[in-house]
Formats: sequence, structure tokens, C-alpha cells
Amino acid sequence: MDKNSIESVLENYTALVKRVDDHLLNIEKKYADKIVCKKGCDTCCRFLTLFPVEAVSISSAFGKLPEEIQTIIVNNLKNREDACPLLINRACALYSHRPIICRTHGYPIYMEKDGEPLVDFCPKNFNGITSFPKDALLSIEQLNTTLTTINRYFLDSIETDPPFPDRIPISGALFLEK
Ligand code: SF4
Repeated sequence: MDKNSIESVLENYTALVKRVDDHLLNIEKKYADKIVCKKGCDTCCRFLTLFPVEAVSISSAFGKLPEEIQTIIVNNLKNREDACPLLINRACALYSHRPIICRTHGYPIYMEKDGEPLVDFCPKNFNGITSFPKDALLSIEQLNTTLTTINRYFLDSIETDPPFPDRIPISGALFLEK
């Protein structure tokens, strides 16, 4: 796929990433002194599986990395079991292209568990905060539904033979464009 077609089939996904980033930026501003997430903290960076739309997005970005960085990541893939291969010196080599799940890590998310509402966030963040206003919460169910729809639309708009699997491990995602 050429650059223009990739950008076009990823348009909806890119728009969703922007919406998520805008929301998180507001949280960052509002709770600036309560968020300790920073470069060098890699606690959340475990091996991922991705929807095809995210896999293609990250593969396209991976292909643009300098060759020496790609080589480090390929070696990471061989030597790591749980930690994400994109971690280099405890920082994400594709930070601006990281998947949506990585963007939400650490921030307050809302979900339902066994029919009960549940708010979750990194315990290192939001020290002393016991509740959040509704607009500070990201509904994981809503986000997943939107991402699933975008992924379905993406799959309908491209042709692959064989078809993409439902989920793609990051180890395979990086090489989709090769
Ligand atoms: S893609 Fe980046 S932010 Fe996400 S788990 Fe891997 S290293 Fe961490």
C-alpha cells in the first residue's frame, strides 16, 4: 500500500487517536500535579496484540524508523517474552504512533465489572483523589466499541489475501508492510 492509501484507510483511526489524545491532554492539564507518568516509566509496556487497523498503523511507522533502531527492536523481539519489543532504554521507539491502549494507560478509565461500575487508573497517579467528574473518565467499553467499528470499516475497505486475523501480536504487526 502506498503512503496516500495508508493515510486514507487509516483516516478514521487517526481521528479516534486525536480524540483520545485531546481527552487525555485535558486530564493532564487538570491533574498536572497528580500524574507521575513520564519517560522512563515502562510498567505498562507489556507485549500487545492489536486489531489489524492498529497493526497496519504501527507497521507503517515502524518501516520509517532508522535501520539501526529497527535492528534493536528485531533483537528485542528475539530476547524478550513479556516486555514490549518497542521499548528501548525504557522509552517507546514509536511513542507518537503507539496504540490507543498505550495512550490510556495510567489515566482514569471507566468500566463495568459484574454489573458494578469500576474506575481504574495507575496507583502511582492521582494520589489523594477519591472520585472523578464524569467528563474525566474514559469509557473503555465505548472506546472498544468505536475501535471495533473502525477496524471493521478498515477491513471492509482493503483487500488482503489471506485475510487478517482478528488480533495481531505486535511481533507480527511490525512487519506487515515488509
Ligand atoms: S507500543 Fe510503546 S507505549 Fe505501547 S507497550 Fe510498546 S513500548 Fe509501551
